[in-house]
Amino acid sequence: MPNILSFLLPLGRQRLSYVYSPEYWMWPTAKHVFPVKKYRMVYERLASRGARREDFLKPRPATEKDLLLVHTPKYLRKLKTGGLSHAEATALELPFSPDLVRFAFLSVGGTVIAAEQALRCGLAVHLGGGFHHAFPDHGEGFCLLNDVAVSCLKLKVERKIQKAMIVDCDLHQGNGTASIFSRQGFVFTFSIHQMDVYPAEKPPSTVDVGLWSGDGDEEYLSAMNAYFPRLYREFAPDIVFYLAGADPFVGDQLGGLKVTREGLRERDRIVIENARRLGIPLTVVLAGGYAADVEDVVAIHLNTISVAQKTLRRFRILPSRPPASHS
Ligand SMILES: [Zn+2]
Repeated sequence: MPNILSFLLPLGRQRLSYVYSPEYWMWPTAKHVFPVKKYRMVYERLASRGARREDFLKPRPATEKDLLLVHTPKYLRKLKTGGLSHAEATALELPFSPDLVRFAFLSVGGTVIAAEQALRCGLAVHLGGGFHHAFPDHGEGFCLLNDVAVSCLKLKVERKIQKAMIVDCDLHQGNGTASIFSRQGFVFTFSIHQMDVYPAEKPPSTVDVGLWSGDGDEEYLSAMNAYFPRLYREFAPDIVFYLAGADPFVGDQLGGLKVTREGLRERDRIVIENARRLGIPLTVVLAGGYAADVEDVVAIHLNTISVAQKTLRRFRILPSRPPASHS
């Protein structure tokens, strides 16, 4: 468990790091419900609000070696050669193309470098990622490759962490992630989600919190406060991956929860601030968001980032030991 009595950064020195690629919005989705342009919009808003060029890290596509930590060689070959069956391509619920595959590879690379940056700096935000419906041998529900799972396993095999926690606050249950880590005790998977929507089959996470259509801020936040910071203290992870989905929002087209923008902001504060207070490095990934007006999705993501920025300024604490000291 990181010791919060570590060292303090000089006031005003630390800036939040973002991971983003201009290629994130270059695959066409036409009128698809997946608002791919949100990535560019979030990036542009941050730039217009004073983020500097050096605040942004640009990902490279994940390597085959890293992807094989989670995914099967057969599935990766099918993605690269366009060899998915009709049923496999249909399950993605996105138009399959080489650009989509490149986007998926880049998204994994992005979460990997965001996690490495979080271990160095305490907090980092990937303006992408959170593809939690991807399984080792297939993709579904807009997710081809499980960026968070690959990042967890990469940090583990490189002995940069011993334990990780995934805090999945996307509207949809993290079925791929739960399945991947079902027998791996070094990863604690927490998922708070709506029960009566996709995925129909929900493999158990370490902790699942199921909400129902119509539940709003009160139900959502009382559940979050019941688990955090308690789970952080009990499991004592070396890193947290936070899937800050915008789809629990009351205006979301794919969900039935009634969480307000303010409620989601409070959720962000509970997850991010408590990790920071305990000196646990945290990586934000954006995950889903399908409000009819993309501006709502962008505003919710920007609120999450704003909470991260304020937390970084308010609690100038880094983990006590460099990650490499784990062995
Ligand atoms: Zn979702």
